[in-house]
Amino acid sequence: CGVFGIHSHPQAGAITALGLHALQHRGQEACGIVSHDGDRFHLEHTLGLVGDHFSSEAIIGKLKGPQAIGHVRYATTGDTTIRNVQPLYADFEFGGFALAHNGNLTNAHTLRRQLVRRGCLFQSTTDTETIVHLMAIARGGSPVDRLIEAVRQVEGAFSLVALTPNEVIGVRDPLGVRPLVLGKLGDTYIVTSETCALDIVGADYVRDVEPGEMVVLNEQGVQSLRPFQPQGRRFCIFEYIYFARPDSVMEGSSVYNARQRIGAELARESGIEADVVVPVPDSGVPAALGYATQSGVPFELGIIRNHYVGRTFIEPTDQIRHLGVKLKHNANRAMIEGKRVVLVDDSIVRGTTSKKIVEMVRAAGAKEVHMRISSPPTSHPCFYGIDTPEQSKLLAHRMSVEEMRDFIQADSLAFISLDGLYRAMGAERRDPQKLTFCDACFTGDYPIALTDALDHPPVE
Ligand code: 5GP
Ligand code: SF4
Ligand code: MG
Repeated sequence: CGVFGIHSHPQAGAITALGLHALQHRGQEACGIVSHDGDRFHLEHTLGLVGDHFSSEAIIGKLKGPQAIGHVRYATTGDTTIRNVQPLYADFEFGGFALAHNGNLTNAHTLRRQLVRRGCLFQSTTDTETIVHLMAIARGGSPVDRLIEAVRQVEGAFSLVALTPNEVIGVRDPLGVRPLVLGKLGDTYIVTSETCALDIVGADYVRDVEPGEMVVLNEQGVQSLRPFQPQGRRFCIFEYIYFARPDSVMEGSSVYNARQRIGAELARESGIEADVVVPVPDSGVPAALGYATQSGVPFELGIIRNHYVGRTFIEPTDQIRHLGVKLKHNANRAMIEGKRVVLVDDSIVRGTTSKKIVEMVRAAGAKEVHMRISSPPTSHPCFYGIDTPEQSKLLAHRMSVEEMRDFIQADSLAFISLDGLYRAMGAERRDPQKLTFCDACFTGDYPIALTDALDHPPVE
């Protein structure tokens, strides 16, 4: 998911819509904006894309007032119904409160059961609603105090943006798994998931919100609070590999440059004689450029992507996913026929994409097809906000690299090593003095307790 919040700007609603448009890659199922005009809240939620709904003056005109928050959603918990669309909204003694969440709570079911026993009536099936109920029963008075009390009880990954009658609040979980940045547009502060959402409205990037930090944007500017004990940092390494937009800067590093360095490292580790390097667009492009530069094998757009189809994995059913892949890519025969082709993609999840692409490239006359992947094998599900399927559906959980090569019918298959990935990031795996990341989907080393999963262990 993606979040955006802005305080004190006469066009807060319109700016939030633009910000969400830039974050569209983080979720295409639904979106919403809540604004406050000093007196009342205004809510606008919809299923589907930002541009399809938040483009008319009639809709934007309804989002009155100088502060607003917004959300783009792809479901990691809860189904796709309008009542699960965020920002969530609730009435408190202090007035209204709206909340938007990127991430995934790992003890939400456990807390929910306790809350239901205490009489709380849940209205959605999202994990995020747990935070609202924890606020409702909190002892503190002010919205900030209540939110602090609530987030201290939840476990998991969360970058939150909240709106109260007087302030916009941003919070990042203690390990900073999901991104959150602070920006400035004139005298106005913005808090959002990625810097590309600042660029689109002409705002300057100020800094990342720190892991475990809460920022309160109000009339006085920005106030920084520390509701949690410092615990180190475990930013999601998969944001660099795939999820974030390549023009964003995360934790001080360009996502695009990181992908190129990962591609170069991949070429150093498992380069092979070939005639052409072809990315699986769009996600494989920067890594393929890095691979081509490092190996000296020419880069060509040997696969063309149809841009009017969204990210296939976000479509919910297997049937549509199969269809989506065919709709999305076509081989560019002129660049492939008679050639030894190195294909570069960011990840193999179920293996559907790679299998189709290899088949397509062979059908277009490739002499050899070598697959190179700019992440280690995805062998474990993510419980922190990226929608990977259950473990049994992960190709790398079921198969060795050689079995996967055979499954996708490639002449060779190689993944970047975990060490190579860290090298490319200029980081050290578990050195507290250096940058370190969450890499659980590649290692099974989960940095945050999986309370719900242990409560209801998944069937293997
Ligand atoms: P597959 O077809 O192997 O299930 O999915 C791999 C493709 O989906 C890659 O091209 C990759 O860009 C994209 N993808 C990246 N991350 C994810 C993810 O977290 N989940 C899923 N299902 N697909 C992803
Ligand atoms: Fe990111 Fe993987 Fe960790 Fe999930 S498990 S937060 S995708 S690194
Ligand atoms: Mg892809």
